[in-house]
Amino acid sequence: MNERMPLQGKVALVTGASRGIGAAIAVRLAQDGADVALTFATSPGPAAEVVREIEALGRRGLALHADSADPAAVVRAVDAVAERFGRLDILVNNAGVFPTGPLEEVTLEQIDLALAVHARAAFVGAQAAARHLPKGGRIISIGSQLAERVPRPGVTLYAMSKAALLGFTRGLARDLGPRGITVNLVHPGSTDTDMNPATGARADAQRAASALGRYSSAQEVAAAVAYFASPDADNVTGTSLLVDGGTSA
Ligand code: NDP
Repeated sequence: MNERMPLQGKVALVTGASRGIGAAIAVRLAQDGADVALTFATSPGPAAEVVREIEALGRRGLALHADSADPAAVVRAVDAVAERFGRLDILVNNAGVFPTGPLEEVTLEQIDLALAVHARAAFVGAQAAARHLPKGGRIISIGSQLAERVPRPGVTLYAMSKAALLGFTRGLARDLGPRGITVNLVHPGSTDTDMNPATGARADAQRAASALGRYSSAQEVAAAVAYFASPDADNVTGTSLLVDGGTSA
């Protein structure tokens, strides 16, 4: 193995990677040697910019429009990456939305969307990826610290939809373990992105809730994904890692 390029020769797909944590994951996997495809829903320009960053690292990049709320689009994206790059080694389920608000105001549409993007998309994406992944393959999902602990009201739907990934990760680890494919989950805490800017109205409260008194960067979350993707994590499956500055401690 090349120590500085642990993912050389691998192909990864990161969902929802036009911005934020997904974009940081896509670039990090490319830095580690992988060719990287990504999906986006509404941001073709930023997605193309991430592809340019991947290509500047000497890797192949590909941006695909695929709304994670549409299961057929997710499956098409997975198959398209395997077709275009000739293989698929790593799927990262990252696309996410952040519905918040008083319990009585949560709509059925919001419930359906959160469950579709966070849980159903991960499931059908994994089903499709499993048809392509070789021994050593990886499925890594982005959950949330709020799937483990819920320190405030107003995030029940988000917490529920992300907690689904705990059972998904454990079950899938059992389904795919016999094939030498690992399945893991990264739970970010407050991370400075468009979804949760470190300058936002609730940012000081989130900093105060963490042991380290600060936000995570998207790159710190990406580093955890890179670990699970790497050969160092060959014997690690069905587990989750909090990158939350000790908010859950
Ligand atoms: P951002 O809002 O900054 O970025 C979201 C990304 O997901 C964008 O690339 C967006 O694409 C994509 N996306 C959203 N909806 C869809 C969809 N239906 N189909 C495909 N892509 C979609 O969010 P973050 O980077 O902060 O979040 C990334 C993940 O991390 C999410 O799963 C989130 O829940 C999780 N997370 C974030 C935390 C935080 O504090 N930031 C904390 C814990 C977890 P486009 O630009 O095309 O719309």
